[in-house]
Amino acid sequence: MKTLLSHIDPAVLAVALEQSFNAVVLTDASLDKEGCRIVYANEAFSRMTGYSEQELLGRNPRLLQGPATNPDVMEWLRECLRQGSYFQGSTINYRKDGRPYTVEWNISPVRNPAGEITHFISVQQDISNLMAAQKTTQLFAHVLNVTDDGVLITNRHGVIEFVNKGFEKITGYGLTEVLGHTPSLLKSGEHDAAFYQNMWDTLKQGKTFRGTFTNRAKNNALIYCDETITPLTDEAGEVTHYVSIFRDLTTRVLEEQMFRETMRFDALTGALNRASGEMVLEKAYMQAVGSKLPMSIAIADVDYFKQINDTWGHSCGDAVLKALSRSLIAALRANDSVIRWGGEEFLLVFSGCDLGQALPLAERCRASVQRLTHEQAGQVTLSVGVGELQPGETLAQLIERVDKAMYRAKHAGRNQVQPAAVVMPPAASGTGGAF
Ligand code: GH3
Ligand code: MG
Ligand code: MG
Repeated sequence: MKTLLSHIDPAVLAVALEQSFNAVVLTDASLDKEGCRIVYANEAFSRMTGYSEQELLGRNPRLLQGPATNPDVMEWLRECLRQGSYFQGSTINYRKDGRPYTVEWNISPVRNPAGEITHFISVQQDISNLMAAQKTTQLFAHVLNVTDDGVLITNRHGVIEFVNKGFEKITGYGLTEVLGHTPSLLKSGEHDAAFYQNMWDTLKQGKTFRGTFTNRAKNNALIYCDETITPLTDEAGEVTHYVSIFRDLTTRVLEEQMFRETMRFDALTGALNRASGEMVLEKAYMQAVGSKLPMSIAIADVDYFKQINDTWGHSCGDAVLKALSRSLIAALRANDSVIRWGGEEFLLVFSGCDLGQALPLAERCRASVQRLTHEQAGQVTLSVGVGELQPGETLAQLIERVDKAMYRAKHAGRNQVQPAAVVMPPAASGTGGAF
C-alpha cells in the first residue's frame, strides 16, 4: 500500500485537511448498535453544521438527520458501509440551530495495511444554494410556459435556443422544430427590407425593438404579432442573446378587417354603401383625371317601387331590392362598382369606359333585372341614365347630368337606358369632386 507519509510531512497533511474548503469528517468503523463515531471533523464541517468539533467527537453523524432526511438514501449508505464500498448521495440534513441544508457527500472506507476497514472518510458539500438556483430556474421555466405570450430566445447569431409553450400555441411550431433555426422561419414576405433594417438598427444600438409583425404560422396562415425584441448583453456590453416576446393580435386584426369590410357594404343589398361608394367614386374620378382614361357612371332607379311596397308589403320590397342588386353585381365586370346610392336607386361605376362601352353595360344591367321574376312582385324594371366624364367636369356635375338622363328614361316610359346629354362646362376648373 502506498504511504503518503513517506514523502509528505503529516503535519502539512493535517493542516491541509483542516483548511480544506470541503467539509471532511472521519468516523471509526464500528458497526455496532451505536454505529460509527466521529473521530475528526474539519473546520468546514463545523461551519456547515454549526457544531464545534468538541460537540461532534464521539457522536454518530446521524445527529444531523431530521424529518426531511431521505430514509432510502440513509439505508443505501448503511448498505455501502456494511459492504465496505464507496457511497455517494444527497439528502437534507439539519444544522445545530435546526435549519435544514442540502448536503451532497461521498464516503470512502479507510483500510489498514491488513486490508481491514478501520475508518470511513466523508467529504461533504452544502448544495442548498445550487438547489435553490435549480428551483428558481424550474420556476422561471414553468412561468414562461404558462403565459399565453410567446417567448423566443436566440443566441447572438439569431439562432433559436428556446421557445415556450405560448410560442407553440401562436405559431404551431414546437421547441424541437425550431431549435437551431432562425426566426426567419416565420417570415411571411409581408414586410419590406426597410422594416428589418430598422429592426436591426435598433437592436444593434442595444435598444428594444417593438413592432407589429405579420408572420406565417406552421399551417401557412398569416398571424399578426405585437412583438418586442430585446438584446441581452454581458458585463462587457456584448450581445449574448435576443429575447422576443410575442402577443398574438391575429383575432383582433381579423375582426377589425372583417368589421371594416362589413362597414363597406350595405347590409340589405350587398352593394357598396353610400359612404364607401363615395370614396370609390372619388378614387375612380382622380384616376380618370390623372390618367386621362375615360370613366362612365350610370344611375339606375327602380320603376314603380312604391307600388311594390304598397301592394306586397315592405319585406317583399326588401326581397326585390336584394335580388336585383345581386343581379346588377353579377351583370358587371369585376372592376366595376355597384353602390346603393339611395333607397331604390343604384349608382354604377364603369372605370376606364367611354360612353360607347358604358351604354351596352348599362343595357346589360337593365336586361338582367328585367329577366328576374320575383315571387310576389313578378317583373321589376329599371330606368337608367348613363354618362361619360367630360373634360373639366366635376364629379358632382357628372352625377347631376346622369341623374337627369335617368329622369328622362322615366319620362320616356321607364324600363330603358338613356345617355346623358353632353353640356360644355363653363370655365373648366379641372379639379373638384365635391358632391
Ligand atoms: P318611380 O318609377 O318614379 O321611381 O316610382 P317609385 O315608386 O319607384 O318612386 P318613389 O321614389 O316614389 O318610391 C321609392 C320608394 O322606395 C319609397 C320608399 O318607401 C321605398 N324604399 C326606399 N328604401 C327602401 C327599402 O330599403 N326597402 C323597401 N321595401 N322600400 C324602400
Ligand atoms: Mg323608383
Ligand atoms: Mg327613387
